[in-house]
Amino acid sequence: MAAADQPVRKVTIVGGGTAGWMTAAVLSQWLSKVEITLVESDEIGTIGVGEATIPHIRNFLALAGIDALKMISESKASFKLGIEFVNWGADGERYIHGFGKIGRDMLWLHPHQLWLAAKARVPEKVLSFDHYSINCVACHKNKFAFPDTRNRNSPVADMEYAYHFDASLFARYLRSECETRGVKRVEGRINEVIQNPETGFVEKVRLTDGREVEGDLFVDCSGMRALLIGDALGIGYDNWNKWLLCDRAQAVPCASVSPITPYTRSTAKKAGWQWRIPLQHRIGNGYVYSSDLISDEEVAESLLRDLDGEAMADPRPVRFAPGRRLKSWEKNVIAIGLSSGFLEPLESTSIHLIQTGIHRLLAMFPAIGFNRADIDEYNRQARYEYEDVRDFIIAHYKVTRRSGDPFWDHVREMDVPDSLNERFDLFRSSGRFFKHGAAELFAEESWVQVLLGQGFEMHADPVTEFVGDEDLVGFLQDLADTIEEVADGLSDHGELLRQLPSSTPPT
Ligand code: FAD
Repeated sequence: MAAADQPVRKVTIVGGGTAGWMTAAVLSQWLSKVEITLVESDEIGTIGVGEATIPHIRNFLALAGIDALKMISESKASFKLGIEFVNWGADGERYIHGFGKIGRDMLWLHPHQLWLAAKARVPEKVLSFDHYSINCVACHKNKFAFPDTRNRNSPVADMEYAYHFDASLFARYLRSECETRGVKRVEGRINEVIQNPETGFVEKVRLTDGREVEGDLFVDCSGMRALLIGDALGIGYDNWNKWLLCDRAQAVPCASVSPITPYTRSTAKKAGWQWRIPLQHRIGNGYVYSSDLISDEEVAESLLRDLDGEAMADPRPVRFAPGRRLKSWEKNVIAIGLSSGFLEPLESTSIHLIQTGIHRLLAMFPAIGFNRADIDEYNRQARYEYEDVRDFIIAHYKVTRRSGDPFWDHVREMDVPDSLNERFDLFRSSGRFFKHGAAELFAEESWVQVLLGQGFEMHADPVTEFVGDEDLVGFLQDLADTIEEVADGLSDHGELLRQLPSSTPPT
């Protein structure tokens, strides 16, 4: 049948990468009346990268009914308190974008305002900005703690964390949970998508061996192939290559080294940047680059040269187009994961965008049929999210002070979206930040750390004139001392990982 007024009782998920199994995990937890089938091809496999997350991943685990300790154990995860950016401002410089709040406020002034004022008036008495964030100081010391929400006065109350995990093990673990809950897995390669000739709705997919899988709703998690949303339904792709030059990556795991750092590292390089993601059993690495500006051979050589441990494989190339599918939901197909778009992994947002897609699908689940208003709203929100994340990523490139390489010269000089220029103007004149919309992902703390970390010039909020030098310095010193002392008392990250139980004991 497959028409707009058809109730949804059968959901077919096409693809068993991170997106497919995350979708199956949430739907199977909440929609007991719906039959869920997932089709994946062992022959095609998954993209296998995507190992760093942001704190919202913890909401996903809760929503999907996944035990976090078991996930850590099964997918050899480590904790992530932020990202260290090396050489991004200029060669030899480094800063950390830590998750969570920075210090505490004075009056209504946020710490960065007090810091900017002190830096202008008494620069000799000011430490670097990362001394005022518990997450950043814990990163420097390789420490970790779960947020202590019982003690609101402690900086640890504001600690925020995410995970690094092995993408293949994560998907495998989710699969085992989903199969226990009754999700049916079909292994095989789809070679035909069958649509209703009148409505264009997808009715079933056919595998190379002739088997067919039907569905009322199809979730396209087929990765960059975009088998349903792109190939079958013809929804186009908005390519953002003019701002985001990187279109290729090479990934390689290497042996672990001690300590297991509680942060991702991103190091700026000649025509892009290199990631380093520490897991319990290995380190994930990759060089993301513009294929127009550097050869694959030079990238492989540079990547391998800069590993901390011995390479465990040959570098694996991955091509991508930075951008977004023009619609994520069309007819009875919803694209989640790489089929709906990909920016680049700089701020580890892709898995987060999978999560928000799943949330929206639940919130707008077409239980009694497909409603145009829901579809439009879904697509409006998806577009907003992608553009929001895009601008934050562009900002990293635009405010670099690196020069001499065509890649960095281009991004430093490029025109950026107006909304971003307006944000820069506000920061420059008064260090002020206001969210453009409630759903904006990155908060003031994130913007401030990245901009200050890269040497972007800002003036303090003029209200700081009301605070005397002595109060300013005393406040900042007290903040830094408290954070330093508390961070010293936290657990060693590697030690804590070794001691964690492999699942939450039943209560
Ligand atoms: P895939 O993993 O590609 O899965 C596609 C699935 O579809 C597979 O199961 C495949 O077998 C199946 N399939 C395809 N065609 C067919 C067919 N014809 N028949 C049957 N099955 C089919 N995200 C982050 O959040 N953090 C990061 O640190 C990060 N790093 C990244 C680094 C790079 C270089 C890249 C490219 C991406 C990175 N990402 C990151 C993004 C992340 O990898 C993806 O968002 C995530 O893995 C989800 O991928 P997916 O499930 O959409 O696609």
